[in-house]
Amino acid sequence: MTVSVVLYTSDLRVHDHPPLRAAVQGAEEVVPVFVRDPAVDRTGFAAPNRLAFLADCLEDLDRALRERGGRLVVRDGDTVAEVRALARQTGADEVHVAAGVTAFARRREARLREALEEDGCRLYVHDGVVTVVPPGDIVPRGSDHFAVFTPYHRRWAAQPLRAPFAAPRRLRVPSDVRSEPVPRRSAVAGVSPGLPAGGESEARERLASWLAGPLDAYEDRHDDLAGDATSRLSPHLHFGTLSAAEAVHRARRRGGAGADAFVRQLCWRDFHHQVLAARPRAAGSDYRSRPGRWREGADAEADLAAWREGRTGYPVVDAAMRQLAHEGWMHNRGRLLTASFLSKTLCVDWRAGARYFLGLLVDGDVANNQLNWQWVAGTGTDTRPHRVLNPVLQGKRYDPDGAYVRRWVPELAGLDGPAVHEPWRLAGPDRAALDYPEPLIGLSEGSARFRQLRGPA
Ligand code: FAD
Repeated sequence: MTVSVVLYTSDLRVHDHPPLRAAVQGAEEVVPVFVRDPAVDRTGFAAPNRLAFLADCLEDLDRALRERGGRLVVRDGDTVAEVRALARQTGADEVHVAAGVTAFARRREARLREALEEDGCRLYVHDGVVTVVPPGDIVPRGSDHFAVFTPYHRRWAAQPLRAPFAAPRRLRVPSDVRSEPVPRRSAVAGVSPGLPAGGESEARERLASWLAGPLDAYEDRHDDLAGDATSRLSPHLHFGTLSAAEAVHRARRRGGAGADAFVRQLCWRDFHHQVLAARPRAAGSDYRSRPGRWREGADAEADLAAWREGRTGYPVVDAAMRQLAHEGWMHNRGRLLTASFLSKTLCVDWRAGARYFLGLLVDGDVANNQLNWQWVAGTGTDTRPHRVLNPVLQGKRYDPDGAYVRRWVPELAGLDGPAVHEPWRLAGPDRAALDYPEPLIGLSEGSARFRQLRGPA
């Protein structure tokens, strides 16, 4: 009897899954395994929102495997030790895994290869599972990655794309393999009340309904804060319950300006992944060093705390921060303007903001979070690193009627129209009646401080 192990990490699906496909084609029995590894928890991954979403994903994956005659094996412990033990016990001669991008995933891959080789078992690392185009497949002359998005996008869009793989029809799992119970979402405490449901079934339904209509308006409406007109597929892409390659394939087949704009955003995802793969230290260190840029001390700490709580006195910033706390998700325009406000108006180190986001975001992802933070903070790949987003103008432009602010900042719900973006303009008694703080800092004062800290342009 030939046996293969499929190690699931952030690719929790059965459709368009090259490792599962290769294992099913190459062996009579397959062991699909997910390891809850305390080392992953130590990287800061174990935030309640993501653990709860992960539990949904594992439950749904187990169900999908059972429908096909298999099941998911869950183990607790060191990934390398658990997979090695499983391979030994079942006599597997192959292990299949998706290629990772982070330094953590790469180290795990190297340790796994070494351990399995000692036992005469072979590790197959599959590209094109997490990203559409594998990091490093397209590079500019003389470098190992693209540092600028536009030329990357040009090359990326011209890459041939394979057709998505169907889910395997049947698989057999050896009967004597022990599994921990599949974790339950209800066992996770401290979850945001508006957290969405996870799992491949949910992801596929969301993709289908997105492609069937709202996608067409995406180009025009993706920045409309109140309209909420983006796909909300990011958690599914993060956990791999949806294949990014399949999403691109199906959006292109549908066609139109909305599909082009959506596929371009998926290219941003690949872009940040290829930067991180080439510069793994950019997860925590400046991609482009900007020494002396950040304020420190009690005042900076107090500003950071007010930003976290959504009490900066800038309504659209506060609305977005409260959306994050409530849903474990934030609109992209909100992420841009809250990150700009923290790193450039309050001049607080981007790492503090990125850490807070990672503690809540259900799609919290090392590549996308850290490198988008760096992009906004001016330490990353933005070709205009000194631009600062003005939260009042951003609010008036992307929430023109103020509906987004009223939804998330109930203290301001009584203010009509765009006036909600400037509560400080209210006349004395009306202003005093609001339980809402004054702005932490005036915008011109913030800009002057930023110019001083950043030095000459
Ligand atoms: P849509 O607009 O429908 O876009 C479709 C998909 O394209 C997204 O699901 C996402 O996978 C990808 N995408 C869109 N914009 C970007 C982008 N700027 N960079 C990379 N991929 C993108 N995205 C995450 O997935 N995880 C994060 O941890 C994360 N942190 C961020 C932090 C900051 C400071 C900023 C500015 C952006 C961050 N983003 C992150 C990117 C983006 O905000 C989210 O992907 C997007 O808001 C998710 O909503 P959606 O699925 O409706 O996106």
